[in-house]
Amino acid sequence: MPRDGMQLLSDYAGGKIAITCSCGLSRLYDVNRMMQRTGDLGMPELLDRLALAEGCAKSRQVQPPKHRPECGLRLDFARMTRAS
Ligand SMILES: [Zn+2]
Repeated sequence: MPRDGMQLLSDYAGGKIAITCSCGLSRLYDVNRMMQRTGDLGMPELLDRLALAEGCAKSRQVQPPKHRPECGLRLDFARMTRAS
């Protein structure tokens, strides 16, 4: 499976990923626990799923939530950690 530089959840195994959104949503996740639930995902798909799972009001208006025109959900790299 070509990665084209896309980040995967497993790139952060043992660490944390953080998301933030213009709608005010902000979450920090344990990556290992997340992978038990979702398997290893590319970050774009992960964001789509999280927007829906966390109830981002703006994302919910779009079905399927493949594109989030109104939702600015993104990774918050400043708060993310990789396992050392
Ligand atoms: Zn949002």
